[in-house]
Order: sequence, then C-alpha cells, then structure tokens
Amino acid sequence: MATNSSLPEKKILEGLKNGKIRAYELENFLSRAQAVRVRAEFIEKEFSEAGIPAIKSGSLEPEKARGNIENMIGSVQVPLGIAGPLEIKGSFFRGRALIPLATTEGALVASVNRGCSALNKSGGVKARIVKTGQTRAPLMKAESPEAAASLIRFLQENYGAVKKIAEQESRFLKLKGIEPFVYDSLIWLRMSADTGDAMGMNMISIAAQNVCIYLEGKVSGIRYLSVSGNLCVDKKPSSITLREGRGRHVVAGALLKGDVVRDVLKSTPEDMENLNIYKNIIGSSIAGSYGLNSHFANVVAAVYLATGQDMAHVVEGSHGVTWMERQGNSLKVSVSMPAIQVGTVGGGTRLPAQQECISLIGIRKSGNPGENASQLAEVVASGVLAGEISLLAAHSSRQLVDAHRRLNR
Ligand code: NAP
Repeated sequence: MATNSSLPEKKILEGLKNGKIRAYELENFLSRAQAVRVRAEFIEKEFSEAGIPAIKSGSLEPEKARGNIENMIGSVQVPLGIAGPLEIKGSFFRGRALIPLATTEGALVASVNRGCSALNKSGGVKARIVKTGQTRAPLMKAESPEAAASLIRFLQENYGAVKKIAEQESRFLKLKGIEPFVYDSLIWLRMSADTGDAMGMNMISIAAQNVCIYLEGKVSGIRYLSVSGNLCVDKKPSSITLREGRGRHVVAGALLKGDVVRDVLKSTPEDMENLNIYKNIIGSSIAGSYGLNSHFANVVAAVYLATGQDMAHVVEGSHGVTWMERQGNSLKVSVSMPAIQVGTVGGGTRLPAQQECISLIGIRKSGNPGENASQLAEVVASGVLAGEISLLAAHSSRQLVDAHRRLNR
C-alpha cells in the first residue's frame, strides 16, 4: 500500500498487524513524528519483552532526521565527551580546538585529553593537508581490446569535455583526474575530485555515472556496468588507499619536550621511539596491516560519530603511519593519515547535535568551498596524534591495563 491518504491510527495499527501496511509506509498516512511513534510502539509490542523506552525517548526530532534514516523508531544515545582544547597551527585551522568524542570506551577521552595536554605543553600541533581528492572507480566492459583502447584514447583526447560532464550537476565538484585500469575486457575509471565542504561520495557518484553514460554514447563497443567497481576503494581496507589516499591526506606533527614526555606521559622519548618501531611499524608490517599506528580508528570513530560523518569511513581513516623519532632530548611525533573523509555539509552533518559538535570545535566559517572541511580534517588528524602519543606512552610504561581497569569497567 503506498497512497498518500490519511487513515485513523486504529486502522493503521490493524493494517500493521495483518501485514496490509508495511512499517516503512507509515509516513504515507501520518506526519513524520506520528509515524515514528506508531512504528516504535508497534515494534515494541510485537518484538520486545523488556520494552524500548530509551530508544523511544531519544531527543532527536524525527523531522530533523528526514533524509538520514528510513523506517525510524527512535534514536540511540551515545555518550559525548570533550578533549582539549588543543593548540593547532594548521594551514586551515589555526587556534584552539575542542575535540568532541562520542564513544562508549571508557578511558578514551581521558587518554586523548592527556595527549592534548602534552602537545600543548610542547607548543601545539602543526597540521598540513598534502593531497585532496574523493575517489570513485566505475566499471565499464569492452567487447574487444580495440574498443578498450579506443575508450582510453577518447578519454585522453577529450578530457575537457569529460570534465564538463562530470561537473555539470554540482556547483562544488571539481574533477582532478581519471586513471584507467584495464584488465582483459574490463575497464575501471578511477576518478578523483575535490568536493568542497562535502565528504562528496554522493556528488562523485553522480559525476561518475554521468561520465560513464556519456562515454557509452561516444565510444562504440563499450558498456557501463556499475558506478563502483571496488577500485575506489569505498569502506574497505586497501593498499591503494594507503598509497593514493581518499578525501584528504593530512600530516600532523609536533616536537614533544623530553620533560613533558616524562611528566605528562610518564614515559621516555627512547622507550616511545623504540616501541613505535617495534609495535606500529614492524608488528603491523608482519600482520600485513594498512594501519601502521596504535589506534587511529578509535579517535576517528569517536569524532566521526560526534560530527555526523559516514561511520563506515572509519575503515579508510584507520590507514596510515605513526612516526616517532628522538631529536636531542625531544621526541618528534607525527601521524600521516591518507584518507580523512569528512564534510561540514551533507549527510549526517545536518543533524542538530552533530551540527552543534562541529561548531563547538571552533571551526571559523569560511566562504571558500573546501576550507571548512579542511579545518575539520586537520582537527581530526591532530586529535588522532594526541590519541597516538598517549596510548603508545601507556603501552611503553605498562599503564594501559590499569587505566582500563580503573576507567573502563
Ligand atoms: P550530499 O548531501 O549528497 O551533497 C552535498 C550537497 O551540499 C550538494 O547538494 C552540494 O551542492 C551542497 N553544498 C552546499 N554548500 C556546499 C559546499 N560548500 N561544499 C560542497 N557542497 C555544498 O553530500 P555528499 O558528501 O556528496 O554525500 C554524503 C552522503 O553520501 C553521506 O550520507 C554518505 O553516507 C553517503 N554515501 C554515499 C555513497 C554513494 O555511493 N552514493 C557512498 C558512501 C557514502 P551541489 O548540489 O551544487 O553539489
């Protein structure tokens, strides 16, 4: 049933029970708020012995989540903590950032906070964006090797026209390049684009499909198969992400003073340098991991959840390298994160609490597309650095298990 008429609630409940109305159709008969309430009550009655009062009483107004969720019955609440402020001297973010962390892992916020304190006492963090470009790799199929070669030639000779097609539906997407990968009759066109302040996966998917349909009409003997051929690589670990990056590649670093390492982190520059090599570099390499780091994913997940990012992009955010090297009495520390995929517009960033978190950070609103998301990416990397130094220090001085015993049980 999918009409737009209004029905009394009693009839709707009957319909839900006898299967004539599907739970996801309720917005066809009721306001969004009523639909969510009725659906939650129905699900509670039919499926829950203990009831779902916490889910039903979530403060997120259903109307505000339109476009973010289907079949809504309420919301789950995740505790939100704050670390910092952290002094950041970035190319885009300059100042003191509060770092909002949504997590259920006790000890995480305390640990990041300790890292912030050590970094502030050593002069703060320098953050730089070294590469940008969201990626999508649609898949085409050629009927012959000649047709595949024609496609590559057409792309090279008509890049300007292809770029125009890619950019036609967005005011903000700017195509940076297309790299073809050919294996037998299959052709992956790995496209890269800047997407302003949006994380950009919807924008680049629209662009990719428009380009492929255009190419199908221009080059004979090729067929457009799929908007993603998995060489993007979206939401899966991959060596190409570690090598080429996605979204924004950010490097954030600092020079930790020796006494700060001892007094705040309760370790020594030597122990931290050694353990970083043994654990993060050698251990991760033996494991075949793309995360040559202690726990990028912990801070990435908590900031992404707080600020409304696509949580599955924590996978890409876990890629990268933590560097520690003694310089005199000090310890040079940095994180290189090739795939920070964040936006300040679009997706979950539209939700009210998530918007509040973005503004709490202290991002200075810029009218230049991309600068807001670049500030956020630098804050993410700097927060990750705080998490890396604190955790590695805890490992190197055997504090980790005790801290979790105390704070996480
Ligand atoms: P989006 O909300 O689909 O697009 C961003 C919108 O914001 C566009 O309409 C854009 O205008 C507008 N906009 C206004 N000011 C802007 C600015 N300063 N910079 C950039 N855009 C601005 O967001 P998206 O980031 O492309 O996609 C995010 C969503 O994609 C998330 O919900 C995510 O979960 C989902 N996702 C999709 C896929 C997929 O394959 N489709 C994969 C993974 C994730 P224009 O209309 O002029 O561009």
